[in-house]
Amino acid sequence: MSPLPLITAQTEEKLLAFLTEHGHTKFRAQQVLDWVWRKRVTTFDAMSNLPPALKNLLAEHFRFHTPEIVEIHGSADTTRKFLTKMEDGSLVESVIIPAAVAENGEKSERVTLCVSSQVGCAFGCKFCASGLLGLKRHLTTGEIIGQILSAETIAEKRVNNIVFMGMGEPLSNFDNLADALEIITSHRGLEIGARHITISTSGFVPGLKKLAAYPRQIRLAVSLHGATDEVRDQIMPVNKKWPLSQLIPALEEWSRGRNQMPTLEYILIRDINDSPKDASHLVRIAKRLHAKVNLIPYNTVEGLPWKRPTEERCRSFRDAVHKARIPVTMRYEKGHDINAACGQLRLRKEQEKNGSTPR
Ligand code: SAH
Ligand code: SF4
Repeated sequence: MSPLPLITAQTEEKLLAFLTEHGHTKFRAQQVLDWVWRKRVTTFDAMSNLPPALKNLLAEHFRFHTPEIVEIHGSADTTRKFLTKMEDGSLVESVIIPAAVAENGEKSERVTLCVSSQVGCAFGCKFCASGLLGLKRHLTTGEIIGQILSAETIAEKRVNNIVFMGMGEPLSNFDNLADALEIITSHRGLEIGARHITISTSGFVPGLKKLAAYPRQIRLAVSLHGATDEVRDQIMPVNKKWPLSQLIPALEEWSRGRNQMPTLEYILIRDINDSPKDASHLVRIAKRLHAKVNLIPYNTVEGLPWKRPTEERCRSFRDAVHKARIPVTMRYEKGHDINAACGQLRLRKEQEKNGSTPR
């Protein structure tokens, strides 16, 4: 018998459909969600304003469960990375990145959580630890939400910014992602504004098309990493199926109808994509898409041959993009000292388990 579904994985619409089917009102659905997300109870019994029959009905059809936190790594820059174990033993990593921000003249704390969307990844980018072990499976909606709940337990703070930049290609797990987004953004859920959520994609065009039709103003980041098919083909197998001639129009389609531009993520890898010519190709794409650019000097992954360019080379690449009037920032990946690049912690742990080395 498969375990009962998680109550924390139910969108308002799904819970309402279930309750009305069992003769309850919309008001009851609101009460239940209030207990789960505002009061954060972890048993149906604690929902003291519900009739006992309803509590029993819920307990017969749903359950509470939070994944086991197996490791927490602190970093000198206050970034914390943690590994949780799913019920089938799969390991999932997430990263908490606190930052002080000034918004509208007021100081506040931003707690960003980088979440995973899959166990491993099928896309096999040549530089990425998540792709090394292949795809094990999609994460369920409950497991995506579970990472946020675990992070809030660890940080003892509410998460108010979410980036889908952990393991996996979120757009290839669209249905579970869409339900998770509903729960995250709903005011009867985690109530995090769509503009505080970023989805990152390596260029999975069918998923981008679905996202273009998705009504909420979620932010989009594209892992471009190469501004010609020649470079992308070399490091990102996804490009063979969906080359730039398909990716760029799909991004334009996404931008149309919403007042948003994508961010182009560009890892700088020595001798692969860091020349002045690469910078001018990148500028051309950024201009066409009205996009801003994030440059990320490559974080070395054990067992992989890629290297970070010198500081000077990174800076001159940035300067070339900046001179072309493209908004550009250089992001040194936070938590470099705790292997914060996606998939690195799980990779190490799986290797310890199997006594193997990466290919
Ligand atoms: N699959 C999606 C979501 C993962 S985002 C995507 O690829 O966009 C994770 C980001 O970290 C991606 O931009 C990825 O390319 C980048 N990344 C992977 N390995 C890295 C490394 N070793 N150093 C720096 N960035 C890395
Ligand atoms: Fe998958 Fe993204 Fe890593 Fe590529 S960069 S292997 S798409 S997680």
